[in-house]
Amino acid sequence: MEVASPEPHRHVNNIEPIPACHWCRGCVVGLCMALAGCHSAPSLQEPLNLSQAKAAVSHYQDSGAYARDLQQSADLARHWIEERCARRAAGERLAVVFDIDETLLSNAPLIRRLDYAYLAPEWVAWVDSAEAPAIEPVRALYRRCLELGLEVFLITGRRDPSDRPATVVNLRRQGLEGYAELILAQPGERALSTTQRKSGARAAIEARGYIIIANVGDQESDLRGGHSERSFKLQNPFYIME
Ligand SMILES: [Mg+2]
Repeated sequence: MEVASPEPHRHVNNIEPIPACHWCRGCVVGLCMALAGCHSAPSLQEPLNLSQAKAAVSHYQDSGAYARDLQQSADLARHWIEERCARRAAGERLAVVFDIDETLLSNAPLIRRLDYAYLAPEWVAWVDSAEAPAIEPVRALYRRCLELGLEVFLITGRRDPSDRPATVVNLRRQGLEGYAELILAQPGERALSTTQRKSGARAAIEARGYIIIANVGDQESDLRGGHSERSFKLQNPFYIME
């Protein structure tokens, strides 16, 4: 009688039997566990824990690292803008573009109060309150641009017409006046991505004869799409807008 030969080892998924063990992965793992004195199976990799992520973002702010990084980014932009202005050609109409949320104005008080949740009614009430504080290094950069005789354009995802009055008040309260234009998202632009809308707005500014020498924002989508000599990305540990 023919006796089937034993199968000493199979892969875990049972797809392919192997005739004999020649230090397959299972054996190597087992040996390593034995050498390490470990008798339990290795744990599965867990995703980033939400509580720890929130704590890390809070620490980034509370430790002062966020403020330092923003200062550093604003300094880079200021260095470029001053250098570019110093070699401004006669007749050049130079402009700088700023985003608003997490660029000129901070929504961190709302975000922290909601423990990092986004709740639309709370957001609307917050915008209407016009209480967002300025991000100081960026406000200083904004004022420097005006001192240098640059035209400042604000291009924001805030919506026209609903958000305009409170946004104007908020900017004024924070000493952010003197801009050439405040460009909000129009009702007919809802289907556009942020990059499409904002790069289109910059193209329209250029078509009016301006040279945009710097574009400052906290999102990659604020900066993609060209129509600026240089782009400056500010840190935003809270959210990503595509
Ligand atoms: Mg923003």
